[in-house]
Amino acid sequence: MKKQRSRWVIGNWKMNGSLAFNQALIGELSGAGAVAGSRGVVRIAVCPPFPYLPQVSGLLATSDIELGAQDVAANASGAYTGQVAAPMLREFGVSLVIVGHSERRTLNGDTDDVVAAKLAFAIASGLTAVVCVGETLAERDSGDAERVVGRQIAALIEGIQASPERVVVAYEPVWAIGTGRTASVEVAQEMHRFIRSQLAAAGEALAMIPILYGGSVKAGNAAQLGQAPDIDGALVGGASLDADEFLAVIEGFCASG
Ligand code: PEP
Repeated sequence: MKKQRSRWVIGNWKMNGSLAFNQALIGELSGAGAVAGSRGVVRIAVCPPFPYLPQVSGLLATSDIELGAQDVAANASGAYTGQVAAPMLREFGVSLVIVGHSERRTLNGDTDDVVAAKLAFAIASGLTAVVCVGETLAERDSGDAERVVGRQIAALIEGIQASPERVVVAYEPVWAIGTGRTASVEVAQEMHRFIRSQLAAAGEALAMIPILYGGSVKAGNAAQLGQAPDIDGALVGGASLDADEFLAVIEGFCASG
């Protein structure tokens, strides 16, 4: 089953980068053997900040690496100052977008309903939506991890059913993001299995949705995570800003397929 699901390694640059930095990083990634070797095994994408999308789109023109954005508006157009709509992203060669990242949920007030609306606009515009779910440390410690993640997934089911083939789920425990603290393979696998069963209960096609793990993924833990039966890749923050580290993560997931 795992081999039939698409596998991904996606770099979320967050609010990092510059014209010079991006050029150097993409230069190092594009020519690298790990990216070439991932063809047909693991799909690779990078998600720079909005202003750099045209630059990075150009830099990736002859590369196997796909281009993603970090967020999208929950509306098609209009009086939404500061927001960026899905069709605008498409015009710049963007093929996927992260929605519901925990930093958007906590810092920008993206509720389950807002995340569901963003997912719906993204997939209706032909983008792949990489939708993030995950519990906080307090929620995990109080035994609420499955209830919280279950609620986040439930809010998305209707939207996902419109085009399940355009959806990737990322399980990102909030306590593991940018903390250097990775969920153990056992904890991550248990949550992935839980998410998969919830998706499968909503339809056969949803059972095939790739589920990525995110939270301090790096060279040292990628291969181990990739061996878990329900982990189909990674959403990578900090380590995606270092070419050697990101390439090693890609190699780890290719090797563990
Ligand atoms: C993320 O931002 O999605 C993430 C997983 O970050 P990090 O890899 O730095 O924990």
